[in-house]
Amino acid sequence: MKTFGVLLSFFMALSAGAQTAGPNLNSPSSSATEQKGAKRAPDRDWPKEPGDASVCLWKGDRLAAFSLTIDDNCAPNHPFWIEMGNIFGFRFTWFVITERVGTGGFWGTWDAFRKLHEMGHDIQSHTVSHLHGQYDIETEYRESKRMIEEKIPGHRVRTLAYPGGQHPVKNDAGVAAKYYIGARGTVGMVTPAVNMPYMRTGSQGGGIFTGERSKMETFFDPSHRNYRGWHICLFHLVKEDKQPTIRENLARVKEREADIWVGTFTEVVRYARQRDTAKVRTEERGSTRIVFTLTDELDDQIYDGPLTVKVRLPPSWTNGKAVQGGNPPPCAVIEHEGARYALVDAVPDRGAVTLTPE
Ligand SMILES: [Zn+2]
Repeated sequence: MKTFGVLLSFFMALSAGAQTAGPNLNSPSSSATEQKGAKRAPDRDWPKEPGDASVCLWKGDRLAAFSLTIDDNCAPNHPFWIEMGNIFGFRFTWFVITERVGTGGFWGTWDAFRKLHEMGHDIQSHTVSHLHGQYDIETEYRESKRMIEEKIPGHRVRTLAYPGGQHPVKNDAGVAAKYYIGARGTVGMVTPAVNMPYMRTGSQGGGIFTGERSKMETFFDPSHRNYRGWHICLFHLVKEDKQPTIRENLARVKEREADIWVGTFTEVVRYARQRDTAKVRTEERGSTRIVFTLTDELDDQIYDGPLTVKVRLPPSWTNGKAVQGGNPPPCAVIEHEGARYALVDAVPDRGAVTLTPE
């Protein structure tokens, strides 16, 4: 099983090699992580001189990432997950078997998935038929994406969850990569932030930061292999007696939200892919103005989300305000060991970002 996984990652590295450069985190430790197979994620980076900038490993410079995913439609649980999302301000990812929608209570309706989408939840593909044999693999991947995009106008399907178990049709990460930027795999591992297997991530059932291999503290422990990793939780139908535990565990995540980025599966894999080819460059460093550019090597039609850039501010600045392309991107100022830093959520390839003291 282990060898199989290694071979698969090797195959993926080959097939994705053209568009996937090594991680470029612009941090002092990044060169050490560029070696294939290097385990350790870099610590938070603290740029040394005013005007120095680097791309954060995760959004908001958080230590780790978390996504909650729900497979196989599970319509009876929609009210529960909507309630959890509203209580905690989290958004979840549904991986939908498209040809089952509208065929009965368990499988949900397109109205129900449109409603989830309108609430900010993420509706993505779990293939057309769950690989039950009537379609080839390419049809399973292509048509499920097409169907969701047709039924939820304006929504883009960019990620896939491979159906697990034995099926007459086999999953194929190479074919999936033609239609998707990322895919959730079937192995119960924590997904590493560095050398991330975009097209075959981990997926962990059995709890939210409570599984034997995904205890919360391990994500903050620099000596642990989970350090700074991405916990992708997988749920099927949740019975009523298990719901209070889920609620308690989501409350624990909420308490650590400063250190855990809770994003949809699609947001997190998109961030990682952009981050891994991103370059930030300081163009101007004055006492009243800092200008930087942020670029990546990916298709801007697909990879159009923000990355968090950390910029060291001059000692005289008590605050900072950012402008990119005439708009103010989110910008927070934090302190660390007596210095101030701006965290700017800038979009790569959308023009220079100007920082000024507020
Ligand atoms: Zn499934």
